[in-house]
Amino acid sequence: MTEPTFSRIVSALPSTVPFVAPEAIERRCGRLFKLRLGANESAFGISAKAKAAMVEAVPSVAYYGDPENHELRAQIAHLHETTMEHVLVGSGIDDLFGLVAHVFLDPGEVAVASLGSYPTFRYFVAGCGGEILTVPYREHWTDLSRLVGEAKRVGARLLYLANPDNPTGTYHGREALRTLIDHVPTGCALLLDEAYIDFVPPREALPVDCDDPRVIRLRTFSKAHGMAGMRIGYALASRGTVAAFNKVRTQFGVNRLAQVGALASLEDPAFVHSVVEEVERGRSEYQDLGREVGIPTLPSWTNFVAFDLATTARVRRVMDALANRDVFVRTGAPPLDRLVRVTVGTEPERAAFAKVFREVIAG
Ligand SMILES: *Cc1c(COP(=O)(O)O)cnc(C)c1O
Repeated sequence: MTEPTFSRIVSALPSTVPFVAPEAIERRCGRLFKLRLGANESAFGISAKAKAAMVEAVPSVAYYGDPENHELRAQIAHLHETTMEHVLVGSGIDDLFGLVAHVFLDPGEVAVASLGSYPTFRYFVAGCGGEILTVPYREHWTDLSRLVGEAKRVGARLLYLANPDNPTGTYHGREALRTLIDHVPTGCALLLDEAYIDFVPPREALPVDCDDPRVIRLRTFSKAHGMAGMRIGYALASRGTVAAFNKVRTQFGVNRLAQVGALASLEDPAFVHSVVEEVERGRSEYQDLGREVGIPTLPSWTNFVAFDLATTARVRRVMDALANRDVFVRTGAPPLDRLVRVTVGTEPERAAFAKVFREVIAG
């Protein structure tokens, strides 16, 4: 029997998994995690209004969702004081990464990012035959001037910045972003991954300007809205970019329950506000914990805190010890594998984590 032939791009790719899921680790270990603090999922559930809307919509899943995501796009446009032609809804930022790579990159073309930043963007770039070039972090911060310098040097089509960043949690404020945007080279688009933007105080956030064709901003309901399992997010971009996305996007990729849940969650800002407040409390508890046990923490504008254990060997020991106590956390990709990244849990989860972490560090 002869093998079917795969595309040249796919044939040349190594098999990779950008993230090993906690479920996969549980299957391998034959045990369940007691504390799931490794994927920056929300510990605070979903808005009661979003839940009610989704429950009510369950019987209608016999029908396809609206492929234009009309109502949700209208509400997103309203919130950002823009028009629906500037909004594209997808099944999470990861889905939108695939779309961005497809729309901007021909095989062999280049995207630039920080070495060690969020890994799925690179996965999608590779998947369409593109190439990722990286620049090192300056301490725990993306080196913005080096990033644009590299983009210019290599003629990059895309410049990727997660802001706030993952796995560091650090954030570049609006002045730094304005300078960055002014220096994005001609022919290159800035892809701003704003998965954690809900945790940034509005006065520090860059106002949305969808008429600037150089910038694409990605948002998700997976973090502060607590809907990671529903798979829904959106892009804010120029009309031209959204029109290009619309030529190749998956038409029915966003499910009905996600559509109604996301809409109801946007209409319940008090819920997200309460999550953000609780996350702030949790972050300062983790930072106090770090001080107590002598492990520095990085400043964070997200729903997680990165503990800097200084060496990869120590990270490995600590992660193994935590896993043995059924605690799921993650580290970064090299060279950020000095960090242990811990999601802010509920108050009892934070207390349970603190107890285990003290024991592990003392041992
Ligand atoms: C969680 C996360 C995402 C993934 O978002 P989805 O909408 O769930 O695909 C993207 N980027 C960063 C930086 C994240 O931390």
